[in-house]
Amino acid sequence: MTDIIDLDYDRQHVWHPYTSMSEPLPCYPVASASGVRLKLENGRELIDGMSSWWACIHGYNVKALNQAAHQQLQQMSHVMFGGLTHKPAVDLSRRLVDITPQGLDKVFLSDSGSVAVEVALKMAIQYWQSQGKDKKHFVSLRRGYHGDTFGAMSVCDPDGGMHSLYEGFLAKQYFVTEPQLAFDQPWQAQDIAPLEELLEQHHQHIAALILEPIVQGAGGMRFYHPEYLRQAKQLCERFDVLLIADEIATGFGRTGKMFACEHANIVPDILCLGKGLTGGYMSLAATLCSDKVAQGISQGSAGVLMHGPTFMGNPLACAVAVASIDLLLASPWQQRVENIAHQLQLGLAPIGQLEQVKETRLLGAIGVVECHEAVDMQQIQAFFVEHGVWIRPFGKLVYLMPAYVMNDADIATLCAVIYAALNTPK
Ligand code: PMP
Repeated sequence: MTDIIDLDYDRQHVWHPYTSMSEPLPCYPVASASGVRLKLENGRELIDGMSSWWACIHGYNVKALNQAAHQQLQQMSHVMFGGLTHKPAVDLSRRLVDITPQGLDKVFLSDSGSVAVEVALKMAIQYWQSQGKDKKHFVSLRRGYHGDTFGAMSVCDPDGGMHSLYEGFLAKQYFVTEPQLAFDQPWQAQDIAPLEELLEQHHQHIAALILEPIVQGAGGMRFYHPEYLRQAKQLCERFDVLLIADEIATGFGRTGKMFACEHANIVPDILCLGKGLTGGYMSLAATLCSDKVAQGISQGSAGVLMHGPTFMGNPLACAVAVASIDLLLASPWQQRVENIAHQLQLGLAPIGQLEQVKETRLLGAIGVVECHEAVDMQQIQAFFVEHGVWIRPFGKLVYLMPAYVMNDADIATLCAVIYAALNTPK
């Protein structure tokens, strides 16, 4: 074996996300990553605008996280969590309870965002079982996205395309028109009316409302009004429906608040975290719930929460997550995110003037360019790489979610390259 990445083997044998094995799209071989730069095998350096899908909030090859991983490796990389516990899991849980909205104080550690959502759905079902109520369905927002496992797929927008293939196999859920008002538009009461109507009619069957607070990510990178979230929480209370906040993408500062729920000052009953939890180093996720939910489940007929993955509370991942949260808290992350927002605003302004572009949007360290039509993914990806940046468009969207440590010049370069890519006549 040589150090060279065998691209032919990759094409023939290695499945990539949402891709065909017979006609795989081109893949760029990355040799290493450090700070906000990916280094390709041919030596070309790319400024990374994606943070590996929201995850690497501190950038790559981060000293404090490397140290935490090395140190933990000397102790133990993994032990089963059944009947055993350890410092990394307890330390991480304490930090999560401390930094998440008050009232979420029970922590279930799993290994991916989708599983964190599965756990949340199971918590909600088991909670209502324990209350003797037949509430087994969920309501979610159109354009919502919550992961790729079966329970998670069942609460994704069925018309969004991603999971429509599985329609007949998925649990039947309720879907409600998504919020129409953007984050900074004046609030209008009718935005919440569809949810109110649906809950009024069906609340007796509904265990929980699941939503991505403030940012609908994979469903279009839309930033909706905080008042929607506040009123959704009130409706959940009124109709005896739990609220599950999926902050797998938005958690850990991305929107300018530590958690997006804080934009509306609400506390969900159940909260899902992942991605940035370990600074994007390891596969780890968490589902937190209130004491009310935990006590209900524990007093139900099963008496236990029916979930327990092999890699639950993996010490290596937990130790890195502890280091990542400590690093975040010790850094001026809020100032950094604000500054990124400002730099993105400057960089996106000229892009918004281009003919191909419908609009640009911005919230915290997330910048979005929505085109009138889907971009040619392969072509634009090649253009980006040629111009020294890593940006992965999706349909009509070209978006940036840089690490919080990115400097102004790199943000300006990312925006300038997007401008150049979209400025060509169609
Ligand atoms: N929920 C949201 C909001 C997400 O963005 C994602 C990941 N794209 C998931 C759930 C699923 O997480 P994972 O890919 O880690 O399973």
